Amino acid sequence: MLMVDMTSTLTPVPFVDLSLIHDPLKPEIQAALQAVIDKGDFILGHAVTEFEIGFAKACGVRYGVGVACGTDAIALGLQACGIQPGDEVLVPANTFIATLIGVLHAGATPVLVDCDPCMALIDLNQAAQVVTQKTKAIIPVHLYGQMVSPHQLFAFAKAHNLIIFEDAAQAHLAERESYCAGSIGLAAAFSFYPSKNLGCFGDGGIVVTQNETVAQNLRCLRNYGAPQKYLHTEQGTNSRLDSLQAAILNVKLPHLNTWNRDRNFVAEKYDASLLLLREKGIIPIENQSADGHVYHLYVIRVTEECAIDRDTLKDKLTEQGIQVGIHYPIPCHLQPAYQNLGYKEGNFPQTEKLSQQILSLPMYPGVTTNQINHVFTAIQSAIGA
Ligand SMILES: *Cc1c(COP(=O)(O)O)cnc(C)c1O
Repeated sequence: MLMVDMTSTLTPVPFVDLSLIHDPLKPEIQAALQAVIDKGDFILGHAVTEFEIGFAKACGVRYGVGVACGTDAIALGLQACGIQPGDEVLVPANTFIATLIGVLHAGATPVLVDCDPCMALIDLNQAAQVVTQKTKAIIPVHLYGQMVSPHQLFAFAKAHNLIIFEDAAQAHLAERESYCAGSIGLAAAFSFYPSKNLGCFGDGGIVVTQNETVAQNLRCLRNYGAPQKYLHTEQGTNSRLDSLQAAILNVKLPHLNTWNRDRNFVAEKYDASLLLLREKGIIPIENQSADGHVYHLYVIRVTEECAIDRDTLKDKLTEQGIQVGIHYPIPCHLQPAYQNLGYKEGNFPQTEKLSQQILSLPMYPGVTTNQINHVFTAIQSAIGA
């Protein structure tokens, strides 16, 4: 007898569903927001200090300085670490554009580096080949929720006398080799854009650091370059984490570990089922950090061995009510706005190939086994396996 499971084929699978984590916290979030309104300390209020301390502690780091967004966290964070115009900063070509923007806003020169094809992270062997006298820092981007190997980074930074500045915008509380994201660099940037592993209800960001001077510099830079009111010792800016956003983050932070574990659990289930499609050319981005991977995104590669290409698979999944994404479809060095950096097609073959092959599947805390099965079955039938 042929069984047709109508429920699973008709159940849409969203790419993310934040209501699952927000609904149970609604009363607590509303109370936290009301407390800020009652107190009236909207700018750098109590909630911000509480969050800065709490988040830094969660990362195993001494200081946290809240800023307006992740992009500013990179730009101001680099400046606070002493990066200046003329300095070269190593950046993976395979990242979200904000990494590049952060470096440029700090006045430094981004030097792009290709990625390794299996994990999609910066390739340190390639990075070694573009180090010059002017190179001052490397920005490992812990892409998709997986850290760049701390041991390899330490060795690389030591060999070339470089600062490590982490872009941890996709890796809140990720771990690898017993290190936590945000704890291995001189400083690290995080974003609280709503769909990140820890997100607020608008824009927000933070820089964490072990270094007191870096933290002090940042507090000054984010607040008009003023260490005290109306004394401007730096050419700073206005980039602060709002008290209202911090209040929301304070409610959400204690749950972050649970949510991350659930993402990892969802990924394990994807991994287990997709193993069957490996020979058919569907290959997930490799996880070399076990349960330390916090899966901001679950990304597969639709390789040359596959019967159909990435875009065809994407269309077929969309038809089945499964929302998918591409992170990212156009590499940084091929973006129209950055042609002045002088890169061209062919410069970063692994990054360029990934941009054609990668597909991000639905991933958030609370994806059900039924939904995972639906995604698997849809991929299987789309590629004719
Ligand atoms: C989201 C993100 C950023 C920027 O964060 P915003 O808060 O959106 O400015 C930077 N780097 C990476 C890798 C990101 O994913």
